[in-house]
Amino acid sequence: MIFHKNDKTIILINREEPPLRQRFTAMHELGHFLLGHLGETPFSRCEDDCRQSEEQAADKFAIDMLAPACVLWGMRIRTPEEIADLCRISYEAACFRAERMKLLYERDMFLSHPLERRVYLQFLPFIRQNRK
Ligand SMILES: [Zn+2]
Repeated sequence: MIFHKNDKTIILINREEPPLRQRFTAMHELGHFLLGHLGETPFSRCEDDCRQSEEQAADKFAIDMLAPACVLWGMRIRTPEEIADLCRISYEAACFRAERMKLLYERDMFLSHPLERRVYLQFLPFIRQNRK
């Protein structure tokens, strides 16, 4: 969970959860923060439809952070199994990323945005060292 307290924003992660879940939850909650989903007061978030779209956006943020499409593309990684193993995310999250990767391959849309090119260049040594 994420909340405001004394002018600070705090993310709490359950240590009892498996490490994969903890990583994903940390990125999901950071997504809520960076995407502006938090209200002015603790827990004053929107309800139902709005919350559902925010949850989806936070999940997408987490997957984008933990399994960047341009890095997977550069490493020629496509299957959910490969994505889950490399990025240390759940198989379910890896399936979501793999489906999105199919669309990106169809559109040949890799490295089309300046920020994506910057991410790719930052990961390039890793990509070259670990490419299939
Ligand atoms: Zn959430």
